[in-house]
Amino acid sequence: MTDSPRIHLGSLLRADEDAHADGTLDHLEYEQGGQTQTLTFATDAAYDVDVNSLGGHEMYLQGSFEPTLVMDCARCLRPVEVPLEITLGTMMRYEPSADAPYLEEAESGEEVLVFGDPNLDLSAYLAETTLLAAPLSVLHDPACRGLCQVCGHDLNDGPCEHMAQVPVEEIDDDLGIPEGTTHAKQNPFAALADLKLPEDK
Ligand SMILES: [Zn+2]
Ligand SMILES: [Zn+2]
Repeated sequence: MTDSPRIHLGSLLRADEDAHADGTLDHLEYEQGGQTQTLTFATDAAYDVDVNSLGGHEMYLQGSFEPTLVMDCARCLRPVEVPLEITLGTMMRYEPSADAPYLEEAESGEEVLVFGDPNLDLSAYLAETTLLAAPLSVLHDPACRGLCQVCGHDLNDGPCEHMAQVPVEEIDDDLGIPEGTTHAKQNPFAALADLKLPEDK
């Protein structure tokens, strides 16, 4: 288990010294709605973060994060690797009263990362940034056949018994078929119906 990605901002807050952090992550754990969520990466994801003071309690974070996110195929649920190259650039503000770091929308519409612990855990920030950069859904193959609606069989592995069911059009008379459907047109006498007969009076 890798440690949380942290950047130490004490010196920056005390003496305006720039801060730097880098490393790799194989997953990210973060809190959402009181529950611990996990993002899993296919390979070690490199992050590189610099924070520069803007004076007072404000600063600017920039850097990069390159996770290969593992998502489920939207049709068959196979794991799909989604490589992302994320450029980070976010205003930050130190507020000693803030418990966990959170993103706040500034009046300019820009997001500001607000934090209270100078030993800042970047997990939630990197997780949210990753989710924003990721596609909403992915397919493992554009031609993915998905799962059988009846038994859940992965149809990419071949058909299941439900695929072999007799199509409705071929059900024979004994099982009943409404008149006037395809069946009637295949009846040799059906052609007679098309003949123009003299109208009865
Ligand atoms: Zn699929
Ligand atoms: Zn099936």
